[in-house]
Amino acid sequence: MILRLRRFFVAFGRTARAVYTDAMTNAMAATARIARVLTGCGRRTFASVRGDVIHVTNPATGAVVARVSADDDMSVARKFVEASRAQRKWASTPASDRAACLRRYAQSLKDNANDLASEITTEMGKPRTQAKAEVLAAARRVEAIVDIAVSENLAFARDASPGETQADSVRHASRRLEERVELEPVGVVAHISAWNYPHLLAAGVAASALVTGNAVLHKPSEKTPAAGARVESMLSEAGVPKGVFQTCQGGPSVGASLIELRGLGAIAFTGSAETGANIARGAVRDVARAGAPKTVLELGGNDAAYVRRDASLDSAAASIASGAFENAGQGCCAIERVYVHRDVAAPFVEKLVDAARIWHSKTGDPTDAGVALGPLVDVAAARRVAAQVTEAIDLGAEMVYQGTMMSPGNHAYQGAYYPVTIVGGAALRGAPRAFALTREETFGPALAVVVVDDDEEAVESMNDTKYGLTASVFSRDEGIAVSLLRRLRVGTGYVNACNVVSPRLPWGGRGASGFGVSLGKEGILSFLNSKSLYVRG
Ligand code: NAD
Repeated sequence: MILRLRRFFVAFGRTARAVYTDAMTNAMAATARIARVLTGCGRRTFASVRGDVIHVTNPATGAVVARVSADDDMSVARKFVEASRAQRKWASTPASDRAACLRRYAQSLKDNANDLASEITTEMGKPRTQAKAEVLAAARRVEAIVDIAVSENLAFARDASPGETQADSVRHASRRLEERVELEPVGVVAHISAWNYPHLLAAGVAASALVTGNAVLHKPSEKTPAAGARVESMLSEAGVPKGVFQTCQGGPSVGASLIELRGLGAIAFTGSAETGANIARGAVRDVARAGAPKTVLELGGNDAAYVRRDASLDSAAASIASGAFENAGQGCCAIERVYVHRDVAAPFVEKLVDAARIWHSKTGDPTDAGVALGPLVDVAAARRVAAQVTEAIDLGAEMVYQGTMMSPGNHAYQGAYYPVTIVGGAALRGAPRAFALTREETFGPALAVVVVDDDEEAVESMNDTKYGLTASVFSRDEGIAVSLLRRLRVGTGYVNACNVVSPRLPWGGRGASGFGVSLGKEGILSFLNSKSLYVRG
């Protein structure tokens, strides 16, 4: 084999440090904050709810940090009625007022970034610095969406008074007939969300749907209920009227109750492909009797990067490692497969392993400012990643690098950690669907590296997946890189980059990665219906 994949079993892990006391102090403070957030919300929202109780577990410590009452069918239905009523008034509120509320929400995200970040860390284990970066990105997302909606005249859907036309609405006018299109809010949006970026995901839908005059029923993941409750309280403090944005807490059954609602305007779903399939079926179930909501499905990915022979290997390795290991690999657009040209495979893998070692050296307590890799969201998630890696090795793949496993006695050991891992070897080549590691979404810090002979083989291998979220090409030739990206069945392509989501560009997947888009002008339009008007003078 030309590529000399070396085995790196480097005992490089950070040894147990005396951070246990600090970690516990931080965790207790964040736990108290979560309890306050949830209790405050609970008095108003959950008091009469009879549903199940959600137990929130800190994945870094295994401790239950909060118990949250879940909604049920009845409370979801009540909230829907209230949202429908509030939406009509909100849609006729001057758009500039709606935009101002959202800008205050963005400011609140910035002002409270430290507290919000601590809560994210406590609920789902994201390292504190990455959690704070998420909150600040959420604020920028809100501001950018509001700016787009205002500058593109999308926020002003209901501003035209009777007899006036909305700006830019006339598409064609002949002597006798004028053809116009107007935009109107869809009504009530059900947003069923994932736990991996709780504030960022909520912010995108809240901004797009609210600035255009809709109401939102937001179901945060049952793994991040405190973050979910915070979104509602910040929007309320920012001036969004009661009923316009409400939280429905709970798990799959509460999500199902939302989908069952007759008369929803739209469903914005972020989650796994499997759940997405249920949502899509539910959305069209009643189409003959009651119509169907506009539906956007933002699902999982199995994203690939290709390192061409002409790539800058240093920056490709650093960028790919960060794309694979940030948030412990729990990103929809995390890099999960790397295809590298044979001629540069050996030096590239060496650099990738060096980068992985640095990530591994920053594994630990996620409340520690120096830590970049914390636990996965729960023990089950860590076991799923372990099973994929073990199967790949059993089927003949090679362990290129794996950080040391956390062990009992290490402060951070709670079973939800999985070490930075790179798997390679000839067995993986040409058979992405033979291994769960390369076939499924891994959603953990495990990366597969496969050697290819040329661009053709890279394109074929990258496309050999049911998913289609993003893909990256690393090359000094932008023209070739872009032409390769055009041949890939993905919603987003990157040249010499990965794992970037701008609020200015539409975001959506192909295949099992979903349909419809969020973000950008196109994403805002997901929450508006167009009405065509023919006016004979
Ligand atoms: P999940 O599918 O398990 O759950 C997502 C949400 O759906 C949760 O709120 C859950 O309670 C709810 N739900 C579960 N079953 C339901 C049902 N039958 N009916 C209605 N609602 C139901 O996903 P997750 O583990 O929370 O999130 C991780 C997934 O999200 C990954 O696949 C990730 O790639 C994906 N994701 C995608 C994007 C994107 O932009 N494409 C962004 C973030 C996360």
